Amino acid sequence: MADALAIARDLIRCPSVTPADAGALGVLENLLKAAGFEVHRITFSEPGTAEIDNLYARIGDTAPHLVFAGHTDVVPAGEETAWSVGAFSGDVKDGFLYGRGAVDMKGGIACSVAAVLGFLRNHDGKPKEHGKGSISFLITGDEEDVAVNGTVKLLQWVAARGEKFDHCVLGEPSNQQAMGDCIKVGRRGSQSGTLHVEGRQGHVAYPQRASNPVPDISRLIVALSDEPLDHGSAQFEPSNLEFTSVDVGNSATNVIPGQARAKFNIRYNDLHTQASLRKLVEARLADAAGNRIRAHIVWEPSNSNVFVTKPGPFTDLAVAAIEDVTGRKPELSTTGGTSDARFIASYCPVIEFGLVGQTMHQVDERTPVEDLEKLARIYRGILDRYFG
Ligand SMILES: [Zn+2]
Repeated sequence: MADALAIARDLIRCPSVTPADAGALGVLENLLKAAGFEVHRITFSEPGTAEIDNLYARIGDTAPHLVFAGHTDVVPAGEETAWSVGAFSGDVKDGFLYGRGAVDMKGGIACSVAAVLGFLRNHDGKPKEHGKGSISFLITGDEEDVAVNGTVKLLQWVAARGEKFDHCVLGEPSNQQAMGDCIKVGRRGSQSGTLHVEGRQGHVAYPQRASNPVPDISRLIVALSDEPLDHGSAQFEPSNLEFTSVDVGNSATNVIPGQARAKFNIRYNDLHTQASLRKLVEARLADAAGNRIRAHIVWEPSNSNVFVTKPGPFTDLAVAAIEDVTGRKPELSTTGGTSDARFIASYCPVIEFGLVGQTMHQVDERTPVEDLEKLARIYRGILDRYFG
Protein backbone atom coordinates (compact mmCIF):
# COMPACT_ATOMS: atom_id res chain seq x y z
CA MET A 1 0.00 0.00 0.00
CA ALA A 2 1.35 3.45 -0.95
CA ASP A 3 2.45 5.06 2.26
CA ALA A 4 0.11 7.73 3.61
CA LEU A 5 2.84 9.03 5.91
CA ALA A 6 5.32 9.53 3.05
CA ILE A 7 2.73 11.41 0.96
CA ALA A 8 1.71 13.56 3.95
CA ARG A 9 5.36 14.48 4.63
CA ASP A 10 5.91 15.45 0.99
CA LEU A 11 2.82 17.67 1.13
CA ILE A 12 3.75 19.33 4.44
CA ARG A 13 7.20 20.20 3.03
CA CYS A 14 5.44 22.45 0.48
CA PRO A 15 4.66 25.63 2.46
CA SER A 16 1.33 26.18 0.71
CA VAL A 17 -0.06 28.98 2.85
CA THR A 18 -3.09 30.38 0.96
CA PRO A 19 -2.79 31.52 -1.86
CA ALA A 20 0.61 29.83 -2.50
CA ASP A 21 0.71 26.30 -3.91
CA ALA A 22 4.45 25.81 -3.34
CA GLY A 23 4.44 22.53 -5.24
CA ALA A 24 1.77 20.74 -3.17
CA LEU A 25 -0.57 19.96 -6.07
CA GLY A 26 2.44 18.77 -8.11
CA VAL A 27 3.06 16.05 -5.50
CA LEU A 28 -0.48 14.76 -6.08
CA GLU A 29 -0.34 15.22 -9.84
CA ASN A 30 2.76 13.00 -10.12
CA LEU A 31 1.29 10.22 -7.98
CA LEU A 32 -2.10 10.24 -9.71
CA LYS A 33 -0.72 10.44 -13.27
CA ALA A 34 1.53 7.45 -12.57
CA ALA A 35 -1.58 5.50 -11.48
CA GLY A 36 -3.41 6.28 -14.74
CA PHE A 37 -5.53 9.27 -13.67
CA GLU A 38 -6.37 12.01 -16.16
CA VAL A 39 -5.12 15.04 -14.24
CA HIS A 40 -6.18 18.65 -14.83
CA ARG A 41 -4.54 21.65 -13.22
CA ILE A 42 -6.92 24.58 -13.34
CA THR A 43 -6.12 28.13 -12.31
CA PHE A 44 -8.94 30.45 -11.27
CA SER A 45 -8.74 34.16 -10.68
CA GLU A 46 -10.99 37.12 -10.08
CA PRO A 47 -10.24 40.84 -9.85
CA GLY A 48 -9.11 41.71 -6.35
CA THR A 49 -8.25 38.11 -5.38
CA ALA A 50 -5.11 36.01 -5.77
CA GLU A 51 -4.81 33.49 -8.60
CA ILE A 52 -5.33 29.98 -7.26
CA ASP A 53 -4.11 26.60 -8.48
CA ASN A 54 -6.57 23.71 -8.30
CA LEU A 55 -6.52 20.06 -9.32
CA TYR A 56 -9.10 17.68 -10.71
CA ALA A 57 -8.14 14.08 -11.47
CA ARG A 58 -10.31 11.18 -12.56
CA ILE A 59 -9.91 7.52 -13.42
CA GLY A 60 -12.73 5.65 -15.14
CA ASP A 61 -15.56 7.15 -17.18
CA THR A 62 -18.68 5.42 -15.89
CA ALA A 63 -20.91 5.55 -12.82
CA PRO A 64 -20.82 5.15 -9.90
CA HIS A 65 -18.53 8.11 -9.43
CA LEU A 66 -16.94 8.58 -6.02
CA VAL A 67 -14.99 11.79 -5.44
CA PHE A 68 -12.51 12.55 -2.67
CA ALA A 69 -12.38 16.28 -1.99
CA GLY A 70 -9.99 18.42 -0.04
CA HIS A 71 -7.67 21.42 0.10
CA THR A 72 -3.88 21.62 0.04
CA ASP A 73 -3.69 25.21 1.27
CA VAL A 74 -2.95 25.80 4.94
CA VAL A 75 -3.16 28.65 7.43
CA PRO A 76 0.13 30.42 8.34
CA ALA A 77 2.46 28.72 10.81
CA GLY A 78 2.11 31.50 13.37
CA GLU A 79 5.02 31.80 15.84
CA GLU A 80 7.46 29.46 14.06
CA THR A 81 9.99 29.47 16.88
CA ALA A 82 7.26 28.15 19.19
CA TRP A 83 7.03 24.90 17.18
CA SER A 84 8.75 21.74 18.53
CA VAL A 85 9.93 21.00 14.98
CA GLY A 86 9.88 23.11 11.81
CA ALA A 87 6.31 23.91 10.80
CA PHE A 88 7.08 22.75 7.24
CA SER A 89 9.74 20.13 7.97
CA GLY A 90 7.38 17.14 7.96
CA ASP A 91 9.28 15.65 10.90
CA VAL A 92 8.04 12.69 12.92
CA LYS A 93 8.67 12.81 16.67
CA ASP A 94 7.53 10.32 19.33
CA GLY A 95 5.05 8.72 16.94
CA PHE A 96 3.51 12.00 15.80
CA LEU A 97 3.75 13.67 12.39
CA TYR A 98 4.15 17.40 13.01
CA GLY A 99 3.55 20.25 10.61
CA ARG A 100 1.11 22.85 9.37
CA GLY A 101 -1.59 20.89 7.53
CA ALA A 102 -0.81 17.55 9.22
CA VAL A 103 -4.43 17.47 10.39
CA ASP A 104 -6.10 20.19 8.28
CA MET A 105 -5.87 18.59 5.85
CA LYS A 106 -2.80 17.32 4.04
CA GLY A 107 -2.87 14.23 6.26
CA GLY A 108 -6.42 13.47 5.13
CA ILE A 109 -5.55 13.93 1.46
CA ALA A 110 -2.49 11.71 1.81
CA CYS A 111 -4.65 8.95 3.31
CA SER A 112 -7.22 9.13 0.51
CA VAL A 113 -4.52 9.04 -2.20
CA ALA A 114 -2.75 6.13 -0.49
CA ALA A 115 -6.03 4.23 -0.13
CA VAL A 116 -7.06 4.79 -3.75
CA LEU A 117 -3.64 3.84 -5.18
CA GLY A 118 -3.64 0.65 -3.09
CA PHE A 119 -7.18 -0.15 -4.17
CA LEU A 120 -6.36 0.31 -7.86
CA ARG A 121 -3.26 -1.86 -7.58
CA ASN A 122 -5.43 -4.69 -6.29
CA HIS A 123 -7.98 -4.22 -9.08
CA ASP A 124 -5.92 -4.14 -12.29
CA GLY A 125 -5.85 -0.34 -12.11
CA LYS A 126 -9.66 -0.13 -12.51
CA PRO A 127 -12.18 1.15 -9.95
CA LYS A 128 -14.43 -1.87 -10.42
CA GLU A 129 -14.34 -5.38 -11.88
CA HIS A 130 -15.37 -5.11 -15.55
CA GLY A 131 -13.91 -1.60 -15.55
CA LYS A 132 -17.08 0.07 -14.20
CA GLY A 133 -17.07 3.08 -11.95
CA SER A 134 -14.93 6.19 -11.48
CA ILE A 135 -12.82 7.69 -8.74
CA SER A 136 -11.89 11.37 -8.67
CA PHE A 137 -9.92 13.85 -6.63
CA LEU A 138 -11.20 17.42 -6.36
CA ILE A 139 -8.47 19.38 -4.62
CA THR A 140 -8.46 23.12 -4.15
CA GLY A 141 -5.81 25.58 -3.02
CA ASP A 142 -8.33 28.09 -1.72
CA GLU A 143 -10.24 26.94 1.34
CA GLU A 144 -8.60 28.64 4.31
CA ASP A 145 -8.89 32.21 3.07
CA VAL A 146 -11.68 33.86 1.01
CA ALA A 147 -12.49 30.59 -0.83
CA VAL A 148 -13.66 32.19 -4.08
CA ASN A 149 -11.20 30.63 -6.56
CA GLY A 150 -11.49 27.10 -5.23
CA THR A 151 -14.20 24.50 -4.75
CA VAL A 152 -17.13 26.59 -6.03
CA LYS A 153 -15.49 27.25 -9.39
CA LEU A 154 -13.94 23.80 -9.62
CA LEU A 155 -17.35 22.18 -9.15
CA GLN A 156 -18.79 24.41 -11.89
CA TRP A 157 -15.84 23.56 -14.15
CA VAL A 158 -16.42 19.81 -13.72
CA ALA A 159 -20.17 20.18 -14.25
CA ALA A 160 -19.58 22.18 -17.45
CA ARG A 161 -17.67 19.16 -18.79
CA GLY A 162 -20.83 17.10 -18.31
CA GLU A 163 -19.35 15.10 -15.44
CA LYS A 164 -21.47 14.11 -12.45
CA PHE A 165 -20.52 12.93 -9.00
CA ASP A 166 -22.57 10.31 -7.18
CA HIS A 167 -21.00 10.64 -3.73
CA CYS A 168 -18.26 12.64 -2.06
CA VAL A 169 -15.94 12.06 0.88
CA LEU A 170 -14.39 15.30 2.14
CA GLY A 171 -11.33 14.58 4.28
CA GLU A 172 -11.58 17.50 6.71
CA PRO A 173 -10.70 16.65 10.31
CA SER A 174 -14.10 15.52 11.58
CA ASN A 175 -13.23 13.51 14.68
CA GLN A 176 -13.41 15.23 18.08
CA GLN A 177 -11.30 13.11 20.45
CA ALA A 178 -10.39 9.86 18.71
CA MET A 179 -10.45 8.29 15.27
CA GLY A 180 -13.92 7.07 14.48
CA ASP A 181 -15.95 9.18 16.90
CA CYS A 182 -17.61 11.49 14.37
CA ILE A 183 -18.71 11.82 10.75
CA LYS A 184 -20.02 15.23 9.73
CA VAL A 185 -23.10 14.75 7.59
CA GLY A 186 -24.30 18.32 7.39
CA ARG A 187 -23.97 21.80 8.72
CA ARG A 188 -26.30 24.48 9.88
CA GLY A 189 -26.80 27.46 7.62
CA SER A 190 -25.49 30.86 8.63
CA GLN A 191 -27.29 34.15 8.05
CA SER A 192 -26.33 37.56 9.39
CA GLY A 193 -28.33 40.76 9.49
CA THR A 194 -28.61 44.19 11.07
CA LEU A 195 -31.70 45.44 12.85
CA HIS A 196 -32.30 49.15 12.30
CA VAL A 197 -34.62 51.19 14.53
CA GLU A 198 -35.52 54.77 13.60
CA GLY A 199 -36.31 57.30 16.31
CA ARG A 200 -36.33 61.07 16.38
CA GLN A 201 -33.30 62.98 17.64
CA GLY A 202 -33.79 65.58 20.34
CA HIS A 203 -32.65 67.19 23.59
CA VAL A 204 -32.71 64.86 26.62
CA ALA A 205 -34.43 67.67 28.59
CA TYR A 206 -37.36 67.60 26.16
CA PRO A 207 -38.06 63.90 25.57
CA GLN A 208 -41.63 64.66 24.53
CA ARG A 209 -40.21 66.26 21.38
CA ALA A 210 -38.04 63.23 20.54
CA SER A 211 -38.47 59.51 20.08
CA ASN A 212 -35.74 57.42 21.71
CA PRO A 213 -34.78 54.30 19.71
CA VAL A 214 -32.66 52.83 22.55
CA PRO A 215 -35.49 51.36 24.68
CA ASP A 216 -37.24 50.36 21.46
CA ILE A 217 -34.32 48.40 20.03
CA SER A 218 -33.84 46.79 23.46
CA ARG A 219 -37.45 45.55 23.39
CA LEU A 220 -37.01 44.19 19.88
CA ILE A 221 -33.73 42.46 20.78
CA VAL A 222 -35.39 40.75 23.73
CA ALA A 223 -38.40 39.76 21.64
CA LEU A 224 -36.31 38.29 18.83
CA SER A 225 -33.90 36.54 21.22
CA ASP A 226 -36.50 35.03 23.56
CA GLU A 227 -38.72 33.08 21.20
CA PRO A 228 -37.02 29.91 19.89
CA LEU A 229 -36.90 29.63 16.09
CA ASP A 230 -37.68 25.91 16.37
CA HIS A 231 -37.03 22.97 18.68
CA GLY A 232 -34.52 21.11 16.54
CA SER A 233 -35.02 18.45 13.86
CA ALA A 234 -34.10 14.79 13.49
CA GLN A 235 -30.50 15.62 12.64
CA PHE A 236 -30.02 19.13 13.98
CA GLU A 237 -30.00 21.07 17.21
CA PRO A 238 -32.45 23.98 17.50
CA SER A 239 -31.69 27.01 15.31
CA ASN A 240 -30.32 29.99 17.18
CA LEU A 241 -30.47 33.75 16.72
CA GLU A 242 -27.72 35.60 18.55
CA PHE A 243 -27.27 39.38 18.77
CA THR A 244 -23.59 40.27 18.57
CA SER A 245 -23.48 44.07 18.86
CA VAL A 246 -25.66 47.08 19.57
CA ASP A 247 -24.66 50.46 18.22
CA VAL A 248 -26.18 53.88 18.69
CA GLY A 249 -23.21 55.98 17.61
CA ASN A 250 -23.97 58.70 20.12
CA SER A 251 -21.15 60.38 22.05
CA ALA A 252 -23.26 63.17 23.64
CA THR A 253 -24.96 62.80 27.01
CA ASN A 254 -27.59 65.46 26.32
CA VAL A 255 -28.85 64.13 22.99
CA ILE A 256 -31.48 61.48 22.40
CA PRO A 257 -30.10 59.60 19.38
CA GLY A 258 -32.03 59.40 16.15
CA GLN A 259 -31.39 55.77 15.37
CA ALA A 260 -30.02 52.50 16.72
CA ARG A 261 -28.65 49.37 15.09
CA ALA A 262 -27.99 45.83 16.29
CA LYS A 263 -26.14 43.07 14.47
CA PHE A 264 -27.08 39.43 14.76
CA ASN A 265 -26.24 36.03 13.31
CA ILE A 266 -28.52 33.04 12.92
CA ARG A 267 -27.32 29.43 12.73
CA TYR A 268 -30.28 27.56 11.31
CA ASN A 269 -31.22 23.95 10.70
CA ASP A 270 -33.01 22.05 7.93
CA LEU A 271 -36.47 23.18 9.07
CA HIS A 272 -35.72 26.46 7.29
CA THR A 273 -34.45 27.77 4.01
CA GLN A 274 -32.74 31.13 3.83
CA ALA A 275 -35.94 32.66 2.40
CA SER A 276 -38.33 31.10 4.93
CA LEU A 277 -36.05 32.05 7.79
CA ARG A 278 -35.92 35.70 6.73
CA LYS A 279 -39.70 35.74 6.43
CA LEU A 280 -40.14 34.23 9.89
CA VAL A 281 -37.80 36.73 11.57
CA GLU A 282 -39.38 39.69 9.75
CA ALA A 283 -42.86 38.56 10.81
CA ARG A 284 -41.75 38.36 14.45
CA LEU A 285 -40.17 41.77 14.17
CA ALA A 286 -43.37 43.25 12.77
CA ASP A 287 -45.29 41.67 15.65
CA ALA A 288 -42.95 43.04 18.28
CA ALA A 289 -42.68 46.50 16.71
CA GLY A 290 -46.41 46.96 16.23
CA ASN A 291 -47.48 50.29 14.78
CA ARG A 292 -45.31 52.32 17.10
CA ILE A 293 -41.69 51.28 16.47
CA ARG A 294 -40.16 51.92 13.05
CA ALA A 295 -37.78 49.00 12.46
CA HIS A 296 -36.41 46.98 9.59
CA ILE A 297 -33.71 44.38 8.94
CA VAL A 298 -30.91 44.58 6.37
CA TRP A 299 -29.80 41.03 5.53
CA GLU A 300 -26.26 40.22 4.52
CA PRO A 301 -25.63 38.00 1.52
CA SER A 302 -24.83 34.44 2.60
CA ASN A 303 -23.56 31.39 0.74
CA SER A 304 -23.76 29.22 3.85
CA ASN A 305 -26.96 27.30 3.27
CA VAL A 306 -28.00 24.46 5.52
CA PHE A 307 -27.39 20.98 4.13
CA VAL A 308 -27.64 17.42 5.35
CA THR A 309 -26.83 14.01 3.91
CA LYS A 310 -29.61 11.78 5.22
CA PRO A 311 -28.68 8.41 6.70
CA GLY A 312 -28.78 5.68 4.02
CA PRO A 313 -26.60 3.18 2.15
CA PHE A 314 -23.74 5.68 1.69
CA THR A 315 -23.50 6.72 5.34
CA ASP A 316 -24.02 3.06 6.33
CA LEU A 317 -21.00 1.88 4.36
CA ALA A 318 -18.85 4.66 5.81
CA VAL A 319 -19.97 3.76 9.34
CA ALA A 320 -19.19 0.08 8.66
CA ALA A 321 -15.70 0.91 7.35
CA ILE A 322 -15.01 3.09 10.41
CA GLU A 323 -16.31 0.49 12.88
CA ASP A 324 -14.20 -2.16 11.21
CA VAL A 325 -10.96 -0.25 11.75
CA THR A 326 -11.59 1.63 15.00
CA GLY A 327 -14.21 -0.43 16.82
CA ARG A 328 -16.20 2.79 17.27
CA LYS A 329 -19.62 3.60 15.93
CA PRO A 330 -19.31 7.21 14.78
CA GLU A 331 -21.88 9.83 15.61
CA LEU A 332 -23.50 11.41 12.51
CA SER A 333 -23.03 15.05 13.45
CA THR A 334 -24.20 18.37 12.04
CA THR A 335 -22.45 20.66 14.53
CA GLY A 336 -19.55 23.04 14.01
CA GLY A 337 -18.57 25.75 11.57
CA THR A 338 -18.85 25.75 7.80
CA SER A 339 -16.65 23.95 5.26
CA ASP A 340 -16.53 23.40 1.52
CA ALA A 341 -19.03 20.58 2.02
CA ARG A 342 -21.75 23.23 1.81
CA PHE A 343 -20.82 23.83 -1.84
CA ILE A 344 -20.38 20.14 -2.74
CA ALA A 345 -23.79 19.33 -1.23
CA SER A 346 -25.49 21.06 -4.18
CA TYR A 347 -23.96 18.45 -6.51
CA CYS A 348 -24.06 15.15 -4.61
CA PRO A 349 -24.41 13.68 -1.10
CA VAL A 350 -21.27 14.47 0.90
CA ILE A 351 -19.83 13.24 4.18
CA GLU A 352 -16.84 14.66 6.00
CA PHE A 353 -14.48 12.22 7.61
CA GLY A 354 -10.79 12.78 8.30
CA LEU A 355 -8.35 12.94 11.18
CA VAL A 356 -8.86 14.18 14.76
CA GLY A 357 -9.23 17.97 14.69
CA GLN A 358 -7.80 18.93 18.09
CA THR A 359 -4.55 20.63 16.96
CA MET A 360 -5.71 22.17 13.70
CA HIS A 361 -4.61 25.78 13.15
CA GLN A 362 -2.44 25.57 16.32
CA VAL A 363 1.28 25.70 16.92
CA ASP A 364 2.53 22.07 16.87
CA GLU A 365 -0.33 20.85 14.67
CA ARG A 366 0.22 17.08 14.65
CA THR A 367 -1.35 13.70 14.18
CA PRO A 368 -0.39 10.29 15.52
CA VAL A 369 1.21 8.34 12.65
CA GLU A 370 -1.04 5.49 13.72
CA ASP A 371 -4.11 7.63 12.89
CA LEU A 372 -2.84 8.15 9.33
CA GLU A 373 -2.65 4.37 8.94
CA LYS A 374 -6.15 3.98 10.38
CA LEU A 375 -7.63 6.65 8.13
CA ALA A 376 -6.06 5.11 5.01
CA ARG A 377 -7.55 1.74 6.00
CA ILE A 378 -10.96 3.34 6.59
CA TYR A 379 -10.91 5.00 3.15
CA ARG A 380 -9.88 1.66 1.66
CA GLY A 381 -12.83 0.07 3.46
CA ILE A 382 -15.14 2.68 1.94
CA LEU A 383 -13.75 1.99 -1.55
CA ASP A 384 -14.11 -1.79 -1.14
CA ARG A 385 -17.72 -1.45 -0.02
CA TYR A 386 -18.64 1.24 -2.55
CA PHE A 387 -17.31 -0.61 -5.60
CA GLY A 388 -17.61 -4.14 -4.21
ZN1 LIG B 1 -9.61 22.37 6.32
